[in-house]
Amino acid sequence: MRSLSYKRVFDRSLLGSVIAHYKSLASISAQIKIAYREYVLKKGSPSIIPIEIDTVQRAEFENAYSNKPIGAGLSWISELYINGLNSCPFCGGDGARTIEHYLPQASYPEFSVYSLNLLPSCGSCNSKRNSLNAHGAATSPLHPYFDKHILNKLNAYTVVSLDCGVIGFYLSYDHSPFTEEEQFRIDYHMEISLDETSYINRTLDSLETLRISSEKYSTPMEFRTEVIDDQIYISERKKDYNSWHHALCKGLANLSDDELQIIFGDSFGARASAPSLGRLRNLTP
Ligand SMILES: [Zn+2]
Repeated sequence: MRSLSYKRVFDRSLLGSVIAHYKSLASISAQIKIAYREYVLKKGSPSIIPIEIDTVQRAEFENAYSNKPIGAGLSWISELYINGLNSCPFCGGDGARTIEHYLPQASYPEFSVYSLNLLPSCGSCNSKRNSLNAHGAATSPLHPYFDKHILNKLNAYTVVSLDCGVIGFYLSYDHSPFTEEEQFRIDYHMEISLDETSYINRTLDSLETLRISSEKYSTPMEFRTEVIDDQIYISERKKDYNSWHHALCKGLANLSDDELQIIFGDSFGARASAPSLGRLRNLTP
């Protein structure tokens, strides 16, 4: 969960090429331009009233988005898939290999190829939200371009619980910088974006990687500075804010040394005492 920098696309100029390619849209070009302006003014709110279009126009918008013809000036959409994002801006899961229509196409075909409405997202949260943000929705998920003031303050972390020796996880965040209204939106955003199974699996995998790293260290204190703090630093330098790995490391940083000892104690020092695989290989005649 993080904000994104917007790479400016000149939508209003491109609209001419789209209309030259999809002629049925010519009769509503003025309404589309007004809708684009309203999207900015209302920051993608689902209170925007959809423009009236017929079935042919709807089909042409769908075709424009699906085929992204170069002749219609839409090749930039394909570039959204090549984004270098390690984590999904919406949920913090792995990568962002699909495109989210923030205002869904079914409700708002006019924003099908509008750059501010097209956002990189992972597949699992994209399909989970589906068309929830349709016209008239009372609350919206956080918009990575427009909700920077919330996302840049959002500090999500994994609460690691130890119940009878069984490790449990859930995602929480520091509530203190936010108003009640903002908290309501963040809670809603997390509820409709977080795929629990993906989150737990990713977190278990991250924990296992950290456990292997812990074998090089002999005390919780060393492990905290050399691994946990280092991983938090790396995530933040990469602007990989609130990825599930980052959230887990922040959650572990919140634990006491005794609690870290309970989770990682069996692994501390294991690598120093065991011969490495490389050394074993060299001993083989
Ligand atoms: Zn996601």
